[in-house]
Amino acid sequence: MIIFTHHTGEPHGILGAQVAATFFERKLSIPSIVVGIKRDFSKEHLLRFIDEYYAGKDTVVAFSHLCGRKDLIALVGELKQQGFTTILGGPQARQDYRGEPSTDAYPHRFKGLHSVMDAAFQGPIDGFRSDHLRARGNLLEHPWTKDIFLEVDWSNLYTFSNALTKLEVRLGQVLNAVGCPYASKAQTVTLPPPVMLRERDVPTLDIRSEGCIFCDVSRDKGYHGLIEGDRVIAQVRRLPEVEGRKIPFELIDEYPLRSLGRLLKETERQRIVLSQINLVCRVDDINAHASDLADILSLARSLNVKIMFSSIGFESFNDRLLEYFCKGITVADIIRCVETLRRLKDRFGSILLYRRDEGANHGFIRPTPWDDPEAIRENDTNIFLHRFFEDILPEHSTPLIIHHASTLGDWIRQIESTTDIRFGRDGTWIEWWNLLNHGG
Ligand code: SF4
Repeated sequence: MIIFTHHTGEPHGILGAQVAATFFERKLSIPSIVVGIKRDFSKEHLLRFIDEYYAGKDTVVAFSHLCGRKDLIALVGELKQQGFTTILGGPQARQDYRGEPSTDAYPHRFKGLHSVMDAAFQGPIDGFRSDHLRARGNLLEHPWTKDIFLEVDWSNLYTFSNALTKLEVRLGQVLNAVGCPYASKAQTVTLPPPVMLRERDVPTLDIRSEGCIFCDVSRDKGYHGLIEGDRVIAQVRRLPEVEGRKIPFELIDEYPLRSLGRLLKETERQRIVLSQINLVCRVDDINAHASDLADILSLARSLNVKIMFSSIGFESFNDRLLEYFCKGITVADIIRCVETLRRLKDRFGSILLYRRDEGANHGFIRPTPWDDPEAIRENDTNIFLHRFFEDILPEHSTPLIIHHASTLGDWIRQIESTTDIRFGRDGTWIEWWNLLNHGG
C-alpha cells in the first residue's frame, strides 16, 4: 500500500506516515511505503507509477498530511473515480473528513473530504485493523495514549516529482511527548474584529482556546503525556547513522528541556553516538530552564553533540497580539529568552545553534487581522531595539493561517453567524483577508 503525503523534497523524515507504513508492514503484513509528493509533480507520471505499483494488488491508497494542497485533493478524487479505496489519516483527519459545520446554511464553507475519501482514520495507527481497509463512509477513531506504536522503518520513504525517488532521511524525529503540553492550558480571550471591519457592526467576541489560538494540531490531539525514557532511547537507537553517528533528529516535545540532560546522559551510558538534536521549543521552557542550560550544553560539548533551537514560536513582538494568539508569553519573556541564547552562544559557540544563519527558523506571524498602525509600530520598534533582525527574525514572516478546525475557525464562524459578512475559503484554510460580500 502507498501512503501519500505532501513533501518538500528536503531529506527529513515524516514520522507519523512512516510509523503507519511500518505498522502496516510489521503488524498487518501489508507491504507499505510512504510517497511524498512534491509541489512540482507530474500527475501523468504519478498516475502511471500508481498503475504499475498496484498491478495485482488491493487498490487501497492512504493519504496523510495533505497540508491543504488542492492538487493532492484533486488526485484523491481521480483515484477514487478509478475505483481505488481512499483513506485519510494523519493530523486533523476527523475534521478534514467532516468539514465545517452548517455548510447548508453557509455554502461557501469547506464541505470536507468525505466526497473523495472512503474513510478517515483519526488517532494513532495502533487502532487500525485489516478490515478497516474495506471501510466505506466511515470515520474510524482510536484514542491517543502515551503508549503508542513507535517503530519506524526509516528506509520506507520516497518522493515523487517525475519519478519515484528513494529519500535518504538525514533529519529524523524522536517522539518525547504525545501532543503539546501547552494544549492543556484553557483560557478565554477577548478578540476585537479584524481591523478592516472596524467600521462595520462586528462584535468583539470572547473565545475559549486550548493552547495557542491558531494551532490546529494541539486542538486535534490534546496532550497525553511523556513517552517513557527507555522508549525514547529505543527510538534514538533505531535512527540511521552516517559515519558512525546517529543522524540529527528533532525531539518532538514543546517542553523538551526537562528531558534533554537525561537523554544525553543515557545515550552516553549506552554508547549511542549522536550528532545533533533539534528542539522545537517554547519561550517559557527556555526561560524556566535558563539556569540548567549551561550544564546541559557543557555535557553536549563533552559528547560533541550540537543542540539546535530550530524553531521557537516567538510569533510576535507585540503584547496585544501575543495575547490574541493565547501564546502565554510576553515581549519581556521573549527578550529574556533571546538574551539567554545570545549569552550561551558566546560561551558554547558551534555547540549551540539558534540563529537564522545556522538554519533555525523561528515563528513570526504577520500579517494578522489585528495589524493596526500601533501594533505594526510596536512590533517594528521592538525588532529594532532588541536587534531581532540580526539573529532571530526569519527571512519571511508567515501570514496568520486559519485552519477551519482551529479555535480561530470558530471565531470566524461566530462573526459569520452574527453578521452578513462571509470570509473566503481555500481548501481547508479560511481567508480572513478575503471578504466574499461587502455587506452594503
Ligand atoms: S503552537 Fe506549539 S505551543 Fe502552541 S499549542 Fe500548538 S504545538 Fe503547542
